Amino acid sequence: MTEQPVRTRYAPSPTGDPHVGNIRTALFAWALARRTGGQFLLRIEDTDRTRYVPSSLEAIYESLRWLGLDWDEGPIVGGPYAPYIQSERLPYYHEVANRLLAEGKAYRCFCTVERLDALRAEQQRRKQPPGYDGLCRSIPPAEAEARAGEPHVIRFKMPREGQTVLRDAIRGEVVFENALQDDFVLLKSDGYPTYHLAAIADDIAMRITHVIRGEEWLSSAPKHIRLYEALGAPEPVWAHLPVILGTDRKKLSKRSGDTSVLEYREKGYLPEAMVNFLALLGWSLDDKTTIVDRETFVRNFSLERVGANPAVFDIERLDYLNGYYIRAMSPDRWAATVVEWCEAHLPSSVPRPLDRSVLEAAAPLLQERVTRLADIDDLVLFLFTERAPEYEPELLVERLAGDRDFALRVVDAALLALDALPPQEWTRERVEGAVRSLESALGTKLRKFVAVLYVAVMGRPQGIPLFDSMALLGRERTLLRLREARAKLERMHG
Ligand code: GLU
Repeated sequence: MTEQPVRTRYAPSPTGDPHVGNIRTALFAWALARRTGGQFLLRIEDTDRTRYVPSSLEAIYESLRWLGLDWDEGPIVGGPYAPYIQSERLPYYHEVANRLLAEGKAYRCFCTVERLDALRAEQQRRKQPPGYDGLCRSIPPAEAEARAGEPHVIRFKMPREGQTVLRDAIRGEVVFENALQDDFVLLKSDGYPTYHLAAIADDIAMRITHVIRGEEWLSSAPKHIRLYEALGAPEPVWAHLPVILGTDRKKLSKRSGDTSVLEYREKGYLPEAMVNFLALLGWSLDDKTTIVDRETFVRNFSLERVGANPAVFDIERLDYLNGYYIRAMSPDRWAATVVEWCEAHLPSSVPRPLDRSVLEAAAPLLQERVTRLADIDDLVLFLFTERAPEYEPELLVERLAGDRDFALRVVDAALLALDALPPQEWTRERVEGAVRSLESALGTKLRKFVAVLYVAVMGRPQGIPLFDSMALLGRERTLLRLREARAKLERMHG
């Protein structure tokens, strides 16, 4: 028998921008397909019309593209099992539901919302597990057909006795008691399928060999196994990925970092770092390696190395990885990244295009310092403004224990020394020499007063190195800012 090619899918519901916790499923499904030379599909599960958010479609595509998770079949690229958007496949789900009806494996249920509510309340009162009691199972098929014009749903006949065994690639065997399952809905009264019907019908139709999904679906697995059986299709390999917890060991929430993937991009995380970070949420190379680049991940990925224990989402690890990948970039790529980032993120008051040569010169200084690309903004802004970015005069003396007179002496000495440098000698080395000469002029170490100069030049007490900053800023703007700082100090009450 020839091995079937592996076919995996990511099947998000467009109910908002995909979150990082959710996109991990896409990464694992993609990695398995890529490692085995199989196919990775994207399928949009938009059958819950009440939760549909149109803009999330674009966000799903954009998140996948940003992380480099290309799909072989799906929206935009098409494929042999198109359409890949469930709301465009309704006739197919009706066909499957009707087949199950005709074979006596499903039935029409006419129970009203009121009856179902009362049933649930009663079950709660008796501390029984919730679930449909199967009342409409006993309606004779002919009678049910005659009532087909009435509002109703179609339910699946779950076995009442025995067990359903899930063979999970990550968890091994998980046994479910059938008595605890109920006759779940396949087709809703609005004509839309439930997740259960649509997902399974599509996984069968699209020849999915490995269903990789979050642990929250584990409890639905017996329903799905029975559906496969009822439809006469061989079961796929099931893999329920471990739940992701925050560092507080509680279920991952917005507060613990489960926000939209694109928000992470906006904050300046690199896709390389994100992929590495997500890869380690449940999978590991060897229990100790933290740096796993995309290639290494794909080459080594297997479901066997995914653990069942909860994964912990630790943003500090992501920061660490981001810093690592920033520093690992070649100087050219880094410079291009800085230019692109700044073009898109510096305030719109700064005229475009930005001076590339300035950013390219600043790039090596930034590469050692930033954790996220967004850290760049405040570090370079001063290079693109005529005056120093706005700051409070008090900031000038903050690190001098409020000694305004001393601050004035520093600024005056700096003005004197720097003004003496002619324009053609305004280089990093000469600037450094001039500033260092203040040590003897003031009789104190540079580190005691350097913050005043930082604030004067860049509006903040620290940043990229001072001498480089002054050199990049140029003679006129540097002197102007020192004079401005002086004026601010003069106006302060000493
Ligand atoms: N639409 C489901 C979700 O977004 C897909 C689950 C699955 O992968 O089967 O959670």
